[in-house]
Amino acid sequence: MLGVAAWLPDTVIEGDGSAILYTGDIRSEPWFVNSLSHNPNVVEFTHGLKTLDKVYLDTSFTKNVPFQTKAEGIAELLRKVAQYPEDTIFHFQAWTYGYEDVWIALSKALKSQIHVDDYKLKVYSSLRANELSEYSNPICPEAPALVGFKCANKAHAGCLTSSASSRVRLHSCEKGNMCDAAKRPNVVRIVPIVANLSDGTGLVEIGVGGGGDDLVKETEIAQGDWPTFLKRFLVLKIPARPR
Ligand SMILES: [Zn+2]
Repeated sequence: MLGVAAWLPDTVIEGDGSAILYTGDIRSEPWFVNSLSHNPNVVEFTHGLKTLDKVYLDTSFTKNVPFQTKAEGIAELLRKVAQYPEDTIFHFQAWTYGYEDVWIALSKALKSQIHVDDYKLKVYSSLRANELSEYSNPICPEAPALVGFKCANKAHAGCLTSSASSRVRLHSCEKGNMCDAAKRPNVVRIVPIVANLSDGTGLVEIGVGGGGDDLVKETEIAQGDWPTFLKRFLVLKIPARPR
């Protein structure tokens, strides 16, 4: 089984008598593989009318790892979270994209919005046609649950919020810039894994295949280090005059 290799039907590229399938990064679950057979973009290939010449795969996981489905993983998480008292505060460490379903499920189960840092909120707000307007229409199916939607001219909030008020039971604020509420010692830390292995250990995702800091804002140029930056820039852009 290909662990996180994606089959994105829209990325079949045809030309000059050849066809390739270029995949992205997704958990390739049974329902997803089955849905390929009736996707109009690839039906010629799934029913034997045409043949793919090459398939480019994300090969982060090609070993025989017993992956649970995402729904099974979320259900297990919800069962564990439900064991804690109702005033428990959680911090869910989301360092990359792909945990949106987990956020939505946790927010619903805990009856709470999720505090995220401004960077994450801005990234996800771009899922609205106009990210600056809470009345703007969503541009993907997950957007309404995450960043809100409009119904009958009334704006409804999504599960992500910039507020770290006491009513918020779940935080996914950036690890290096955590809000005070999420720093408290009694906060329960949720660290995601990609699979429960047969020996009872969890397969941790971070670092597998890269992308471990998609949602962690990093300063690319150290503030206050302009002389070093300018020196590099000048060296790169202005070659020394030939003698
Ligand atoms: Zn927070």
